[in-house]
Amino acid sequence: NSPLVEIKNLKKYFPVGSQSLKAVDGLDLKIYAGETVGLVGESGCGKSTAGRTITRLYEPTEGEVLFQGKNIFDYKPGEMSHIRREIQMIFQDPYASLNPRMKVEELIGEPLAIHGISKGKERRKRVEDLLKLVGLSPEHITRFPHEFSGGQRQRIGIARALALNPKFIVCDEPISALDVSIQAQVVNLLKELQKEMGLTYLFIAHDLSMVKYISDRILVMYLGRMMELSDSDSLTKDPLHPYTQALLSAVPIPDPTIKRERIVLKGDVPSPINPPSGCVFRTRCPKAMEICSSAVPEWKEQKPGHYVACHLYW
Ligand code: SF4
Ligand code: MG
Repeated sequence: NSPLVEIKNLKKYFPVGSQSLKAVDGLDLKIYAGETVGLVGESGCGKSTAGRTITRLYEPTEGEVLFQGKNIFDYKPGEMSHIRREIQMIFQDPYASLNPRMKVEELIGEPLAIHGISKGKERRKRVEDLLKLVGLSPEHITRFPHEFSGGQRQRIGIARALALNPKFIVCDEPISALDVSIQAQVVNLLKELQKEMGLTYLFIAHDLSMVKYISDRILVMYLGRMMELSDSDSLTKDPLHPYTQALLSAVPIPDPTIKRERIVLKGDVPSPINPPSGCVFRTRCPKAMEICSSAVPEWKEQKPGHYVACHLYW
């Protein structure tokens, strides 16, 4: 069973004066067809940069992204067209990502136009079908983005991403800007579409609350590095990494009889220009030990399929 997407030692550094900002500092992940992998971490942990590099909106500093076995960075710009059709992205802010002067017909039809697929009536029909697919009325076709609510705009963003029948979609915090009441609707829509169209998702989020419902597996990232990876169940019931434990403690539990202590992390995420030595999480870790400042913890399979990078496990 070969993965649809295989990310190998992916690094993305940005030059800052004479230094470099290590936004993504060694990402290794296999994503299988039909699954959803959640990518979680606070803002500034490199999640969006990872998403943008995996879809080749950014060129990597190092590493590979194999899509169906081929490194997408090996393609010349002129050869990227078929990759652009197969790999799409849904963005956090549906308003900022939609051109306010374009009508829905043009917004959703634009990817089709760029790739020279269909025209005139046929394209209009395709856009109407896409609107229905995401739960919007085809009559919206002549409207502008400002005429829609946040949730509707995100549905338009999703329809646009689906226009080319992609296989893999990177969803970069698609629900973070939406009201809580709307979030579940959009998550459910993404789940339905996944089933219907056989989609594979990388679902980026800054907390675990919705991610644990949509994801089959979850990767927790901190300062551009991988902290923990496992199936969602194991990660949420038995989190191993102190960072995951803290993120999880912030998720409200619907059952009031279950008590869980909130772990509040001190301070902010340190600068990715000068990350801490050893374990990058040590400046905020409630369980930090002496060894944590001198040695980078190894990535270790602690239980079958449950990986962690932390000196507490060895
Ligand atoms: Fe905390 Fe040390 Fe584990 Fe890092 S390696 S998470 S500092 S205990
Ligand atoms: Mg982001």
